[in-house]
Amino acid sequence: MNLAYTPTTICAVATAPGRGGVGVIRISGQGLLPFAQAISAGKTPKPRYAMYSDFVGADGQAIDNGLLLYFPGPASFTGEDVIELQGHGGPVVLKMLLQRCLQLGARLAEPGEFTKRAFLNDKLDLAQAESVADLIDAASESAARSALKSLKGAFSSEIHTLVEQLITLRMLVEATLDFPEEDIDFLEKADAVGKLHTLRAQLQTVQASARQGALLREGMHVVLVGEPNVGKSSLMNALAGDDIAIVTDIAGTTRDTVREEIVIDGVPVHIIDTAGLRDTDDVVEKIGIARTWQAVERADLALVLADSRDGIRPPLQAILDRLPPALPRVHVFNKVDLSGEEVGRSEQDGHPLVRLSARSHAGVDVLKALLLEMIGYHGDSEGVFLARERHLDAIARAEQHLSLAAQDWQQVEIFAEELRMAQNALSEITGRFTPDDLLGVIFSRFCIGK
Ligand code: GDP
Repeated sequence: MNLAYTPTTICAVATAPGRGGVGVIRISGQGLLPFAQAISAGKTPKPRYAMYSDFVGADGQAIDNGLLLYFPGPASFTGEDVIELQGHGGPVVLKMLLQRCLQLGARLAEPGEFTKRAFLNDKLDLAQAESVADLIDAASESAARSALKSLKGAFSSEIHTLVEQLITLRMLVEATLDFPEEDIDFLEKADAVGKLHTLRAQLQTVQASARQGALLREGMHVVLVGEPNVGKSSLMNALAGDDIAIVTDIAGTTRDTVREEIVIDGVPVHIIDTAGLRDTDDVVEKIGIARTWQAVERADLALVLADSRDGIRPPLQAILDRLPPALPRVHVFNKVDLSGEEVGRSEQDGHPLVRLSARSHAGVDVLKALLLEMIGYHGDSEGVFLARERHLDAIARAEQHLSLAAQDWQQVEIFAEELRMAQNALSEITGRFTPDDLLGVIFSRFCIGK
């Protein structure tokens, strides 16, 4: 693709902020050997070998010492020359080293700029580049595994296969455009419609995997409603099970909306706690409450928790009455060990009801399965792609064009155009769309004889 960008040298601390055993600074640019020599007091690093060295300032004084790695382009992550300085992981020493890099002509990298350069230099396609971020952000083991698979190109290669088949079909259809009198006959003989059906079926399989992956990536937003002491925290812990419960800071909202994050069978669950939803005159609290309601509006479902000995009492009912009517609900009656009721799933007021004990964990599995079922997650993360909204959107558009192509296949020009649009949509996923693609393939594979 090689879009033009100014090949300035960029640098950044690659390890997490704070103190650590090792701190890594990454530098990428062109012709970085002199840079490596300057920072290691004149030594010449051997490509891809760890070189132990002092890292020196302009005055020749050591700032730190550690390992210097030099990856000459194009065999590097970004495709440019890359240097890694592995020093001591103290914020001050890293800052001094970073300043030294700036002095040597680098500028601070923007977020994602290393990966962006890798994309621009054809080291990764777009879907792979996105999976770098997904792997780093993965909130569960399944999400991490899935992101790694995409990074290694599994998702991209599924998309490539589809695009390849689309190109073959397009060649067929476009070739007939030159012979209008025979076109439909020709297409029928070549079973163009049959090929289109096969292609659509494959696209739908990829779409299903991508949808599952999107759930794995985005998770579900659950509104938790219940009076104090009914066992909300106990239930969250029981649901999270062995998965690490992660409490996230969501910028700008944590102060106002109480959110917690747990993971159920690999699916992140964002919990919006309605404990703070009460009438108040406090201005700040009012803003918080307004934001919580906004979050409630966007949620996937409400988890309504009550003590099974009490059922739904008026204070809980008052909140339920204010929930958006369209918001799907799951009722949970907790503490069956005290009420003596039977664990299991039934129904109440048209909503599913689960009786369980958050303390003994009896019935918690039933609730887990129900929650995953309600968001449409099948629980098998194998073969699932950690898709983003952008991917789902592109796949849906491709599918729409293919469906129009199937409808209008007898109008060959429309057929051809819909196929072209479908290919464009799919190619957006890997970012590899160039209109010359098709021409190149047609000319290399086909001899039309003109
Ligand atoms: P929250 O205020 O709704 O978050 O409720 P907690 O989770 O803090 O629970 C309140 C109390 O109920 C605690 O003492 C829990 O140990 C207890 N509790 C929660 N679930 C159960 C249960 O299933 N059985 C019994 N016997 N006690 C429970």
